[in-house]
Amino acid sequence: MRRVVAGADAFVDGSLQPLDIVIDDGVIAALVPRGNEVEAGEVIDGSGLVAIPGGVDVHVHTRDPGYTHKEDIWTCSQAAAAGGYTTIFGMPNVDPPTMRTDDLAYVMSLYAAKSLVDYNHNPAAKLLDQIAPMAEMGVRAYKIYMVVDTGRTYPHPAAIGVHDHGELYEAMKEVAKTGLRLMVHPHDQSIMDVVEQSYWKIDDRSPQAYARTLAVDDGLIWDLATATLLRLAEATGCRLHIVHAQTTRQIEMITAARERGVDVSAETNHWTIFLGNWTDVETMGSYALSYWVPDHHKAAVWDALRNGTIDMLSSDHAPHTREEKDIGWEDAWAAHTGTPGIQYQLPLMLDAHHAGKLTLERVVDLCCTAPAERFGLDQKGSLAVGKDADIVLVDLEKQWTITNDSVLSKIGWTPYDGRPCQGAVSRTLVRGTDVYVGGAIVGRPGHGRLAEAKG
Ligand SMILES: [Zn+2]
Repeated sequence: MRRVVAGADAFVDGSLQPLDIVIDDGVIAALVPRGNEVEAGEVIDGSGLVAIPGGVDVHVHTRDPGYTHKEDIWTCSQAAAAGGYTTIFGMPNVDPPTMRTDDLAYVMSLYAAKSLVDYNHNPAAKLLDQIAPMAEMGVRAYKIYMVVDTGRTYPHPAAIGVHDHGELYEAMKEVAKTGLRLMVHPHDQSIMDVVEQSYWKIDDRSPQAYARTLAVDDGLIWDLATATLLRLAEATGCRLHIVHAQTTRQIEMITAARERGVDVSAETNHWTIFLGNWTDVETMGSYALSYWVPDHHKAAVWDALRNGTIDMLSSDHAPHTREEKDIGWEDAWAAHTGTPGIQYQLPLMLDAHHAGKLTLERVVDLCCTAPAERFGLDQKGSLAVGKDADIVLVDLEKQWTITNDSVLSKIGWTPYDGRPCQGAVSRTLVRGTDVYVGGAIVGRPGHGRLAEAKG
């Protein structure tokens, strides 16, 4: 059945235009000037709203399989739909961890059965002989963690970590052969080890100590790892994606590497710009990840989001239960790190747009277009004829307050509880089908499909 989104201002070719969107078989069939008569089985009234492309979030922890007491693919994909995300990429720190073709086939079967939105999955680039065969299965990227968990066994299981430069070098050479992107969490564990021990010696395991450890010497732990990764990418030709880009030096290094021709993309995460003040560390402890990004870095990150040096915003949606967080008040090293965010990231970006921090063009590029482009999803990321009809209707004027009651994630809490916001997701379509309408999930598990390169 032909559907038409009529009356909305559509974000097309970098600006808002009075165009109605004609959808045939899940694909955008035409963009026609508002008021032109179009024959359709159903007209979706977009009056007063803005139509943007569906969000693409390449960094999402669905917790499925293995940690489904925190989240599963069905609940995670509902939070995505409500948050205006129509494509999600899962991560390998599930159980079994995604390292081999059979692990990948299993997790792909779970998405096919449960996901409301389109999906892909980033397996770990840990076993060299598994890297090429997993590329054949349609993945768009791999993931490497340079982190070792001390004091807990999750969320960075030892089995999939890579902490040795030689091992990293070999993995990057292997990924380079596939032409796909390697996502890396930059982290220098040996610096982390000595700094955390200095706090443990004085028996300080508070969230503040944890935050000071991670941010030691103005971001040393993140900067050293980023320098290593960029040099290795230059040496191996591996296309690199840096997650958690959040310091001035990282931004400078990324810029310099690009000037030398290194293919590097970078993301920052909602918590870097919307949480992570020292007050958040003090009042929220491990609920704010105990993650502290000092203010002068935040200013640089906002600049990099505005000028495109940081390509995209990813949620790093990382749900944990209250029990797994509360333990952090006693021992921040025992709390599971990460914080949920996929449901509220886009509204918070619209709010930032309203506050004059970003143009709407930058919001759409950061959340939708750039991730689709950098990860080779030809059918996603923009409103154009022939693309998938992944459409989000947003209300730029709506003022509301984020509350725990609205959380669709299994864990039932958000670090943004109580935060006022201007800008809301009104309706989400995945390939022309409604998945979220006016506050309610309307789609079914298994609607999502593997998001691939067109080929
Ligand atoms: Zn992550």
